[in-house]
Amino acid sequence: MDLESSVETLAIHGGTPVRESVLPYGRQWVDEEDIEAVVRVMQSDFLTTGPEVAEFEQAFAVFSGAVEAVAVSSGTAALHAMMYGIGIGPGDEVIVPALTFVASANCVLFQGGTPILADIHPETLLMDPDRIEEKITSRTKAILAVDFAGRPSDYDALREISNRSGLRLVSDACHAFGATRHGQKVGTLADATAFSLHPVKHMTAGEGGLVTTNDPDLASRMRIFRNHGITTDHRQREAKGSWFYEMADLGYNYRLTDIQCALGKSQLRKLPDWVSRRQEIAGVYDAAFRDLAEIETPATQADVSHAYHLYAIQLELSRLSCTRAEVFSALRAEGIGVNVHYIPVHLHPYYRQRFDYRAGDIPYAEAAYERLISLPIFPRMKDTDVEDVIRAVGKVLSHYKK
Ligand SMILES: *Cc1c(COP(=O)(O)O)cnc(C)c1O
Repeated sequence: MDLESSVETLAIHGGTPVRESVLPYGRQWVDEEDIEAVVRVMQSDFLTTGPEVAEFEQAFAVFSGAVEAVAVSSGTAALHAMMYGIGIGPGDEVIVPALTFVASANCVLFQGGTPILADIHPETLLMDPDRIEEKITSRTKAILAVDFAGRPSDYDALREISNRSGLRLVSDACHAFGATRHGQKVGTLADATAFSLHPVKHMTAGEGGLVTTNDPDLASRMRIFRNHGITTDHRQREAKGSWFYEMADLGYNYRLTDIQCALGKSQLRKLPDWVSRRQEIAGVYDAAFRDLAEIETPATQADVSHAYHLYAIQLELSRLSCTRAEVFSALRAEGIGVNVHYIPVHLHPYYRQRFDYRAGDIPYAEAAYERLISLPIFPRMKDTDVEDVIRAVGKVLSHYKK
């Protein structure tokens, strides 16, 4: 496709849009098999705390290569359970990258701890291991890596730092289902790893989350935490013919229903193909945008398999006669449902006010944020949808390039 030749009027200026209907940046894929699985559970004895939960957990543990998977009601609940599980409490500090969804940092606050926001590496957009040690104090208890966009963090370097300083290493892999690093699966590279089952993620249960770990005691703590801190669940008591239960610690109702676990189990069967399809779309984008000097595409790394929850391009603003906001609006007008991930955590009003953060405090995360645009990527996209995105990006950039 010759991107240079397009001199068409942009849709935002009254021209014909590339697409009539808006292509979203991400979208779930629910088929008949999924619907039948849900209906079967709705007609069964257990809508929650039934057999589907353990079956889904086991299937996900197998998929991720971890010993245990604990299902909870959201990705945020997964992060909270993980913080509880590793014993984060008042006064404790956890190092978290600034370029992430707010829940990655909020989970530390839920436990009374303090998230210490660290800067990213400008190329990978992941927490830069070289900027972590300066953040470690006597109060630091853990490092929480975020596999931004689906790219696995540098777990080797992070493990070295956490071992040296006696810290726990945990991961927010809500973007990174099926990603690998040196052939090792995300889900096994930290002490515990959190996933989200929100519809925009790789697979869905409507809402939901999971934590994987190789530590059965940690898994057991998180299962108690998701059930009010009570040490047995309803079905375990029924099996023993006992009414007796004890609340050993303060927990929440973070359970995932059997209805949702049935959907999750059915979706999981399709997940490996969906990850491949995302990678295939990313490959088509990479090739199409290779010679476009106005954007930087996600860096490819040897021996790292990126799961592409997001395909996040960065604008070369010095080569453009406009801002990110203008490119964003122009692409939306062309029918391309672009998005921006993320406003750095410290720039949100709550964090600014509570921790006195200011613009300029975390420079690489802020610089990336000014340039980032997420293009549509999801397994159900047709090849023609991918072509529309490429055509719209070429059209808009050739209009605004200097
Ligand atoms: C989606 C997401 C979460 C939160 O997941 P929910 O299921 O929406 O609670 C946390 N962290 C990251 C990086 C996410 O993308």
